Amino acid sequence: MPIVPHTTRCLVCRGLLDFKLFAEAKRGKAEIETSHSNPRLHRPDNVGFAHRACNIAQGNKTLDEFYDWIKEILRATSRCD
Ligand SMILES: [Zn+2]
Repeated sequence: MPIVPHTTRCLVCRGLLDFKLFAEAKRGKAEIETSHSNPRLHRPDNVGFAHRACNIAQGNKTLDEFYDWIKEILRATSRCD
């Protein structure tokens, strides 16, 4: 598959990944990392790119588990009572 600028989205937040971020990688601290929709499954169709921060936030959860977890946090923190 050809690599087309401004078309690659973060596997986690679906935001566009700016490939300039690759150039901003520092030793041991890349701003774009490879990410797994299921971290416990190592298959090519399970891998994509993600923002470093998104990858850290997802941790060892699957994407579905991560989205459910975030929804619970948003629900809990948006209560006004
Ligand atoms: Zn992201």
